[in-house]
Amino acid sequence: MLKKKFLFSLSASVFLIVFLLSLSLVKSPIRGQNTLVFPASEIAESNRATASFVKKTASTTSTAFSAAATENARLVNSLGWTFGAKPQRGWQIYVPIIQQTIGTEKSAETPEFAVAVAAWQQKSGLAPTGKLDNETLLKMVAWWQSRRLNSSRYPSDEELVSAPITDFYDQARAPELLKVERETYAAYKKMVAAAAKDLNLKQTPTGELAPEEKFLRIVSAFRSREYQAKLRAASPHSGRAGLAVNSPHFTGQALDIYVGGEPTITKDFNRLQQVQTPAYKWLVKNAERFGFRPYYYEPWHWEYVPKSSENY
Ligand SMILES: [Zn+2]
Repeated sequence: MLKKKFLFSLSASVFLIVFLLSLSLVKSPIRGQNTLVFPASEIAESNRATASFVKKTASTTSTAFSAAATENARLVNSLGWTFGAKPQRGWQIYVPIIQQTIGTEKSAETPEFAVAVAAWQQKSGLAPTGKLDNETLLKMVAWWQSRRLNSSRYPSDEELVSAPITDFYDQARAPELLKVERETYAAYKKMVAAAAKDLNLKQTPTGELAPEEKFLRIVSAFRSREYQAKLRAASPHSGRAGLAVNSPHFTGQALDIYVGGEPTITKDFNRLQQVQTPAYKWLVKNAERFGFRPYYYEPWHWEYVPKSSENY
């Protein structure tokens, strides 16, 4: 009898130890409190960590996040915030890039999405409420912006290549507007080849995009300072991109790529249409593998940020 009792308490202790260990495993993926700069090498790992947090947390506490999910379903279309001086409403346009950042494919109104938001909040030093509120969105925007091309280096002529007109959206584009920084162009071609396969884009027998295929063609690449100055003079009310005195397009490492709708119009309805295309969604998930990072506000604008040029 005593022996039985002893065995029972022994197995109870073993069970307790295993239980405690599994709890510590749930906590372990959450690292780097109060940090905004996540080294690129940590992104995949961070996404895995989020996935594991989500998996472990979702099964036990998704009901606890149903209130956050209800709130997110409201905020996605109504949250008031500003970018620059521009008032913004909701974050529907940014759902694909948010999903990529927090490591979930679930839609904004689901408890699973709220759980993934909570994991990201915890990792970023915010209270893990699961609600994508103003503070969380602004921190996410700051994180996206911190990963952009941090260079205003003007390329020499040798560093630029003239891409064939067949790579461009506008088949009548002027010859001086076909230049791209050499490495950026090579990375772009590799990326488009992979995308064409995954997305079944129309191709020629040699593997180029077919003439009738618009998606992922280059809308705009290198712009010289002279060209930008000419644009400014010709059209002083052409908006921020046209007026830019320090455009990332000066580097030759920024590409505007066709992702649907009107190629480069920032009106919400246009961007909302663009972020729902398979081409845009593919870029959000895959462009980083080829060295390209998004400018979250302009779905068409991608910057080549090779690892060696990162500022951390
Ligand atoms: Zn651009």
